[in-house]
Amino acid sequence: MILQGIAASDGIGLGRAVCVREASLDYSNVRYSDKETEKARLQEGIAEFSRRTSAMAAQIRERLGEKEAEILTGQIAMLADPYMRSQMEEAVEGGSCAEAAADSVCTMYAGMFACAEDELMRQRSADIRDMRGRLLAILLGEMELDLSQLAPGSVLVARDLTPSMTVGLKKENIAAILTETGGRTSHAAILARALELPAVLSVPKALEFIKDGDGLIVDGGMGEVILNPDERTRDEYLKGQEALLTQRALLAAYRDRPTVDASGKRYRLYANIGSAAEAEAALRAGAEGIGLFRTEFLFMNRASLPDETVQYEAYREVSHTMKGREVIIRTLDVGGDKAIEYLNMEPEENPFLGHRAIRYCLDCPELYKVQLRALLRAGAEEKNIRIMLPLVSCVEEVRSARKLLEICKAELEAERIPYDKDIALGVMIETPAAALIADLLAREAGFFSIGTNDLTQYTIAADRGNAMVEKLYSVFHPAVLRSIRNVIAAAKEAGIPVGVCGEAAADPALIPLLMAWGLDEFSVSTASVLSSRACIGRWHESETAKLAQEALGLSTAASVERCLRTAVGQPEGGEFRRSHRRQEISRIEGIQGEI
Ligand code: PEP
Ligand code: MG
Repeated sequence: MILQGIAASDGIGLGRAVCVREASLDYSNVRYSDKETEKARLQEGIAEFSRRTSAMAAQIRERLGEKEAEILTGQIAMLADPYMRSQMEEAVEGGSCAEAAADSVCTMYAGMFACAEDELMRQRSADIRDMRGRLLAILLGEMELDLSQLAPGSVLVARDLTPSMTVGLKKENIAAILTETGGRTSHAAILARALELPAVLSVPKALEFIKDGDGLIVDGGMGEVILNPDERTRDEYLKGQEALLTQRALLAAYRDRPTVDASGKRYRLYANIGSAAEAEAALRAGAEGIGLFRTEFLFMNRASLPDETVQYEAYREVSHTMKGREVIIRTLDVGGDKAIEYLNMEPEENPFLGHRAIRYCLDCPELYKVQLRALLRAGAEEKNIRIMLPLVSCVEEVRSARKLLEICKAELEAERIPYDKDIALGVMIETPAAALIADLLAREAGFFSIGTNDLTQYTIAADRGNAMVEKLYSVFHPAVLRSIRNVIAAAKEAGIPVGVCGEAAADPALIPLLMAWGLDEFSVSTASVLSSRACIGRWHESETAKLAQEALGLSTAASVERCLRTAVGQPEGGEFRRSHRRQEISRIEGIQGEI
């Protein structure tokens, strides 16, 4: 059986399905037996919770340190508290089953803490909600899947791949990723590419068709999933997998080369990362700098905010790893689909248009200052850190952020703590408003980086993660392309550097256009560094200018994409990916020739 989805991360993965199903935690069908039985079930549940939580705490202590582990040991202590226990037992005495007793008492405490004045106390509320969910899952006998313990060759099948799920993931054990939601630029796709794992997203009803242990082939380049393949098909794909590996090995020749086009013009080719540890891999992959460090991952999968020291150490690590090379660090881009539970953000009707990213940070200056101080301090030695503001939509936001940055500098000065006095402050252009006032923003910013993933979604008003509007969401839409061109022109006019850090920077069909318009910097996933360098090297200035003129003369996204894909030798339409795969393999000879 072949399931079709969105090709999100190239590569072929063969393995066995591990389905991640969300626990429903619905106990409405649980019948109350008798007081003694329910009390015994409650006690066993709590004992099991403590056992599992101690084991998790030990793992976290080893990986992240004592402080992070304390959050879990705190949960064990709370459940061991005689008063809390007696409240649960009282509920059982009153006729509640073990699940209802645990639920009502935990929910009551979570509500109490959520209203506390003190920020730390409020954060306890998220801890208790987490504790409630895990205790209920144990009482209901729901399996808790530990993603750090998956067997080698696992194909992860989930409704969605959330950033927090990936934190414990051991890449070497995962053959591929398959989800029911998400588009090419959704965070699941970006994460899969960062992990260099093949991924197919938005496979309808994947969790209905696929059972744990089913054999799967995931072709991330073609967006195809083959369920329980026969031996011949397996052999065919194993050969394809080998060919891809050969192709990657051949691209390695580009690792230590400069990024230059055929006319000798130089470009900067940077990598996007999500953690300090990824900087090392980016460097090994041939990246000349970091064009986007998504710092939100540092804030995820924890129970409280990372303090100034934790953040300082992470940013300094990247700065040191990249020694002498530029590191652009984006400040917290929270909200939208990037939830951070302990921040207790209000639910919103339109979270993507809501209180997120720079908007949230400027309204929480104490939280934001911690990050700005950490960034200023981390840049003190190498002086290679640049600060980038996400989701800017007006000039005032840049001014307010700069004001806060100046306050942080003054504080550090008074405290005699070293920091980078001249740290650059740049703006991410990812809203139509920012694109339209790029000339005004350019006067306030040290640099621009165009976030084409969000710029496309907001310009076309088409959700980047929604498969139903996937056909509308296209960076080739003339409106998006005009925006990009105008932003680059505004940056040139103002004399500030401009890059693209959205997924478009690595698309071979867009690269010549961006080159023609004068882009300075391409920031791509680590896996795409070498292929992007090879791609840039194939173009001559005169050819890109001609192509850009032709593409911008067209009036639909489809015709622009067709024109560009044809120019770069990627056939259009449904056949595109299939023959693209064949082309990629046969292009190995071409690359061999160039080397
Ligand atoms: C973008 O929007 O293009 C971008 C790079 O940021 P993110 O994908 O993290 O939203
Ligand atoms: Mg964005």
